[in-house]
Amino acid sequence: MYINILKNLVSCKSITPSSCGAIDYCHKLLTSWGFTSCIYNYGPVSNLYAKYNISNKNICIAGHIDVVPPIGNWQYNPWVLTENNGRLYGRGTNDMKGPLSAALAAIYHYVNNHPKLSISLILTSDEEIMTDNGTKSLVRELMQKGEKIDYCILSESCSKGNSGEYIKIGCKGSLNIDLISHGEQCHVASCNNHINNFVSVLNDIVNTNLDAGTAKFEQSIINITSIDVGNDIRNIVPLSAHAKLNIRFNDNWTHESLEKYIIGKLPNNIQYKFERFGYPFIGASQGYQNKLKYIIEQTINKPVVLGTYGGNSDALSIHEMTEVVEIGSPLAQAHIVDEYITIDDMEKLYTIYKAILENL
Ligand SMILES: [Zn+2]
Repeated sequence: MYINILKNLVSCKSITPSSCGAIDYCHKLLTSWGFTSCIYNYGPVSNLYAKYNISNKNICIAGHIDVVPPIGNWQYNPWVLTENNGRLYGRGTNDMKGPLSAALAAIYHYVNNHPKLSISLILTSDEEIMTDNGTKSLVRELMQKGEKIDYCILSESCSKGNSGEYIKIGCKGSLNIDLISHGEQCHVASCNNHINNFVSVLNDIVNTNLDAGTAKFEQSIINITSIDVGNDIRNIVPLSAHAKLNIRFNDNWTHESLEKYIIGKLPNNIQYKFERFGYPFIGASQGYQNKLKYIIEQTINKPVVLGTYGGNSDALSIHEMTEVVEIGSPLAQAHIVDEYITIDDMEKLYTIYKAILENL
């Protein structure tokens, strides 16, 4: 069943934030299974909340159907699910139409086998760019309506190791930094070159450890994502140079303290701009974490690791409403050329999601 669902989802060219029929497909599917499903459109983004309401206790599975564009040289058609040697190829197979298809099949199994708890779904088409029009607005509207969710599992491409063997219990914060070095334009043979100094400053920033990790979080990390001087002429040093950086930070820091730290490393000729994104948080209580770890370890007979590896996700919004963790496919296989998920991983995730629903 999950392969058929995945085939249908992959055929939707749902490049973020377009749903391109994928939300409608899930809406129709869930309605045919007896769910009350409602589509929430905010701006260009389609979101969905569906519920199979049989008890006061409500478990929610959340996920996204949007994907990043299939850039690069693909050997496979990114919009046609193609099986080869135990692997299922197509854009979004790993991140995260594959894990979602496994979760949907588990949900179908659950509602058809004497379910005890209500089950709901939160789906969005803007996770890859995470504007205000996706899960953030949907969660806000659900809270305003007084909807209650007891536990949430975010099906995501989040695993540090193998599929399902990692529970992501929280997220680091994120800070984008733009730096512009200003200097004189001059002849390269006779020049006080501000770009040389800019490179030294960047070197110092990225080569100094921000921390060694904290009790709950892995180490904060800083990366340069772009350096640009826009100069094709070999004997001129241009007026300015531009660098972009991103910091993923733990609870040792706040946006404010990081900004202060960075500014302290900058000489006067370097102009800065910051863009704040999510803050560090742990989304699940110890009790919820332990319970999930126990259920998964019993199911797959392998040790499960808990942590905060990886990037921001819709957990940032969902944790405002309820307890949330992420369980899914390997992050290392997300956004790659010839993206794939193995059939074994699909089966494993299906079994895990089913066990969680049955034992939570
Ligand atoms: Zn992604």
